[in-house]
Amino acid sequence: MSRRKIAAGNWKMNTTFEDGMELARKISHASIPEDVEVILGIPYVYLKPAIDMLLHVPKVSVAAQNCHSKEKGAYTGEISTHMLSSISCPYVYIGHSERREYFNESSEELADKVDRAFAQKLDIVFCCGESLEIRKSGNQNEYVCRQIEESLFHLTKEQFRKLVIAYEPIWAIGTGETASPGQAQEMHNAIRSSFAAKYGDEVAATIPILYGGSVKSANAEEIFSQADVDGGLVGGASLDAEHFEKIINSFS
Ligand code: PEP
Repeated sequence: MSRRKIAAGNWKMNTTFEDGMELARKISHASIPEDVEVILGIPYVYLKPAIDMLLHVPKVSVAAQNCHSKEKGAYTGEISTHMLSSISCPYVYIGHSERREYFNESSEELADKVDRAFAQKLDIVFCCGESLEIRKSGNQNEYVCRQIEESLFHLTKEQFRKLVIAYEPIWAIGTGETASPGQAQEMHNAIRSSFAAKYGDEVAATIPILYGGSVKSANAEEIFSQADVDGGLVGGASLDAEHFEKIINSFS
């Protein structure tokens, strides 16, 4: 079964406007394999100019790194999915571990964000992943599958099949430590099996599951070659255009 292959970047709270636009411009000129899609997860304030810049660039699109769970109203400083769709932002990342940890985003709130994103026809990259403590306890598969169940299993089959999932073990994000290709494959397989149990084999086989956590050009090829790994969500290494281009070209 061939699935979409995706190299997604996550700039987090990095770059100035000028540096960010230059990075996007470089990626827009990068060599990208025919069957690979690139998503740039960029700061809110650069989204519209980046969307305009990338309008005629095939295979490269952008994502907001977050959105609010309410439709609109008195939520000073927040950004709604309606706002994102009004600037034709195609993707939104939901549930990044930094959002869960530093902004106390619960599974319930993430489920609301997912619903808001669907209401505005945004494509979702939904992130999940366990802490080191949970990994050490050996309960990581149950934990991650529960995160997914709590925020996504209320969706219809038609909605669910549109998702992209990013498995990102927290202990590997920004630490230089990466899950071994075997650990990534084992978790991705467990996630896909949980999709199959809920939505059937055909839907489960369709959904891209990305790995995130210190992906670099040196380890991307081996990680992406695993049967259930369909690409990466890349933080630090996506801030360097040449490095990210190598990762984009690490699919077999
Ligand atoms: C991330 O931001 O989702 C991430 C995986 O970061 P890094 O690649 O820097 O570990």
